[in-house]
Amino acid sequence: MAKMTYAEQLAHPKWQRKRLDTLNAAGWKCANCAAGDVTLHVHHRRYIKGRMAWEYEEDELSVLCKDCHQSEHEIKEAAARVMQIRFAEDVLVEDFSFGFLTGMMAPFGEVTKEDVELAMENYPRFFALGYMVCSLGPSDIASAVRRKLDEGRFGPHTGMLRLLLDQEESEDA
Ligand SMILES: [Zn+2]
Ligand SMILES: [Zn+2]
Repeated sequence: MAKMTYAEQLAHPKWQRKRLDTLNAAGWKCANCAAGDVTLHVHHRRYIKGRMAWEYEEDELSVLCKDCHQSEHEIKEAAARVMQIRFAEDVLVEDFSFGFLTGMMAPFGEVTKEDVELAMENYPRFFALGYMVCSLGPSDIASAVRRKLDEGRFGPHTGMLRLLLDQEESEDA
C-alpha cells in the first residue's frame, strides 16, 4: 500500500473510529478548560515515527477545544525554541537549569522518564516552575511570570525569564 499522507490518515475510517472512542471516553469535554459546547479536537500528545494516526493509546491522545488545542501547539513550539537556545548558547545552559527545561517539556512527552525523575530529584522547584509554566495558556504564562518576576521570585533565573518574555513580546508586535 502506498504511504498515506497525514491528511489521508485523518480521513481514514480507523481514525474516525479512534476519534469517536476518544471523545466518548473524555465525555465530550475539553480536558483543559472543560468546555463542551465548542468545537472539540482530538490532539496527539506526541508523535512516534512510523505509527499511523490511529495507532496511539488513550493516554497519548487528549480531547481539547479549538482554542486550547491552538495554545497547546503554540506552547510546544515556544518550548522547542527554548531548547534551541539552550543548545546554541553554552552560557545559558548553566543559567537556565535542566530542571526548568525538563519541567517545560515533560507535559509534551518530549523528554525521557529518566530525565524527568532526575530533574524532580535534583531540581524539584525548577521542575515545578517549568511544568507550571507549560500548563498555562500562552497569555497567562507571560502575565503570571511577569507578576512573579516583579516579586523577585526567580533568583538567578530572573535575567533569562525577562529575556524570554521580551522576545515573546517583540515577536507579537
Ligand atoms: Zn479548552
Ligand atoms: Zn494537536
